[in-house]
Amino acid sequence: MQDTLNIKVNVTSESKINQVDWENLPFGKVFSDHMLVMEYADGQWQEPVISEFGAIQFHPATSAIHYGQSIFEGLKAYKNNKGEVRIFRPDMNAKRFIESSERMCMPTIPEDLFVECVRKLVEVDQNWIPNREGYSLYIRPFMFATDEFVGIRPSETYKFIVFTCPVGSYYTEPVRVKIEEHYSRAAEGGVGRAKAAGNYGASLFPARKGQALGFHQMLWTDAKTHTFIEESGTMNIMFMINGVLVTPSEDSDTILRGITKRSVLEVASSWGIPVEERKVTVKEIIDGIKDGSVSECFGAGTAATIAHIVKMGFRDETLDINPIENREFSLKMSAFLDDLKAGKVEDTFGWTLKV
Ligand SMILES: *Cc1c(COP(=O)(O)O)cnc(C)c1O
Repeated sequence: MQDTLNIKVNVTSESKINQVDWENLPFGKVFSDHMLVMEYADGQWQEPVISEFGAIQFHPATSAIHYGQSIFEGLKAYKNNKGEVRIFRPDMNAKRFIESSERMCMPTIPEDLFVECVRKLVEVDQNWIPNREGYSLYIRPFMFATDEFVGIRPSETYKFIVFTCPVGSYYTEPVRVKIEEHYSRAAEGGVGRAKAAGNYGASLFPARKGQALGFHQMLWTDAKTHTFIEESGTMNIMFMINGVLVTPSEDSDTILRGITKRSVLEVASSWGIPVEERKVTVKEIIDGIKDGSVSECFGAGTAATIAHIVKMGFRDETLDINPIENREFSLKMSAFLDDLKAGKVEDTFGWTLKV
């Protein structure tokens, strides 16, 4: 692919890198010098072009804004102590982007092309990844419908854009979640499995209600019965129950197929830890926290990798989960994945792509 596709690069003459305050890097607010834009028209993807990061113009009838054909991805690139730049499992994001596109009636981008667009942009802006502990480059590929037309039908034109943000080590305060029994993130037959923009807009209102009660995130349950646990905020959820790593199965189309979760499952299996992907009931988790059989609980996602969950709200109760310092598995996993991404341990899984 690298030989066959030559992405055009218009290097900016004015880098903004010297304006960055590396000590205070708010997540998602600082943008690297370049972005990649690729248009879909006449039934095919046009040549991708990398040029200066900046605002884009919108026609007021741009269909994505009105009818929501809009999807995204999120992944990270890291620089290791040898100065090598590596992207974590971009092929998985490419595959998921295809699934999201299909569900939203959008054109698909071949896996190789998606990966090369991401790789090339990271190569161009690689000096935006500082050689500092915990720093990385957050990569945001997204696609939206651009037909200038008021009417509900799949758009015939689209824009695919990739930009990147340098980010510092993502500190998450121990997370408090609330089991949600009224609102839903996703329903069977809906679009929960797709990384579709509207899913996140729809989750803001219940999340704000939860925040007013002192929780960071909602723990989403199935829309029909609210008795099965699905995921937490925008992370997949995992539990250690009697020494078994348990996570809700992806059989229903309501759970986002997370790459971090998949990686945790694969590493755990390689360590000989039993794993189960199955239905997880609210009742077994509440009972298990009370009797101590649920010893660990964490969210898994690209931004934080592993976010320890320490409190769980259920109706009028708030339960404390095993203190973080006693969590042997998730502490070890968190350190292992960080080291693997940073190139401190050998990537025996072959997950990282060298830029
Ligand atoms: C992106 C996302 C995740 C985590 O996926 P990763 O590939 O691990 O980053 C989990 N749940 C939802 C709803 C998401 O949008």
